[in-house]
Amino acid sequence: MDALVVERLRKVYSSGFDALKGVDLRVEEGDFFGLLGPNGAGKSTLIGIVTSLVNKTGGCVRVFGQDLDRAPEAVKAALGVVPQEFNFNLFLPVAEVVANQAGYFGISRRKAKARTEFLLKKLDLWERRRSEMRDLSGGMKRRLMIARALVHRPRLLILDEPTAGVDIEIRRSMWEYMRELNAEGTTIILTTHYLEEAESLCRNIALIDHGRIEAVADTRALLAGLDAETFVLNLAKPLGQVPRVDGFELTALDATTLEAHVRRGRSLTALFAGLGRHGVEVVSMRNKQNRLEQLVMEMVARGRGAATARAA
Ligand code: ADP
Repeated sequence: MDALVVERLRKVYSSGFDALKGVDLRVEEGDFFGLLGPNGAGKSTLIGIVTSLVNKTGGCVRVFGQDLDRAPEAVKAALGVVPQEFNFNLFLPVAEVVANQAGYFGISRRKAKARTEFLLKKLDLWERRRSEMRDLSGGMKRRLMIARALVHRPRLLILDEPTAGVDIEIRRSMWEYMRELNAEGTTIILTTHYLEEAESLCRNIALIDHGRIEAVADTRALLAGLDAETFVLNLAKPLGQVPRVDGFELTALDATTLEAHVRRGRSLTALFAGLGRHGVEVVSMRNKQNRLEQLVMEMVARGRGAATARAA
């Protein structure tokens, strides 16, 4: 069964801005699905429509077969949503935030208490159950939003940039919990502009840019679209001349910095070994370009290529 089906979805904001230009998307039950794209691509708008926060201009949305226009309550009951912005009552203690949400879904107070305890323990917030929002760190607030979204055991959990502003360690533990939820059968859709996050969590990815889906594929196939990567290497000692290493294009940026163009399928180990043979020692390395930007550029270029071919 499909957890989510989106057809010909359009959104024109009142400013006249065309944020979604006819989006088609299908997410299967049980999937861990990433909606990946740069800032401003239309991810939040799409999620906003599915979760009834934003009115669509056209198209249709179905969640587990229920049409958003005809059965909005059934859609809401099936969804757990973690929005990007914190939207709590600042004066409520942590446990109340979760228990009150259960009330909106008609869960009895007794069941709500038990569920709240379970979720707060799971998300490492039980010790803070009496704290108010202003005493929580950003990462704690983010985890509280997840607990709140899960209170009614939604079949589809949607997270909008779940780890924005969360430090590395907390991010890892949140990833672990998301994987666990997915393994237990919850379908998960998350938006992100971190390629690494999508790569590490998602089985399938839709790449969105300028209100259009540029590609949908399983994660490995999509990332195989990255034909080459450019790395910047910092060297231990100044170079005499740029070494030649078979299969790699090297350029000196200055005496102790090399740029290396590495085609897909070529290993960095071979590059380091080749440099080592010239007595060149690399002390650190970074990606020159943001890989997401690179991927979007390649996909768009390919899409345009196809469009041009069709036109011709
Ligand atoms: P993302 O989540 O991918 O960063 P958004 O869906 O938030 O992208 O935004 C998509 C585009 O729509 C952006 O160019 C943004 O400026 C615009 N946009 C978002 N909300 C509004 C609004 N309320 N009114 C007008 N334009 C908006």
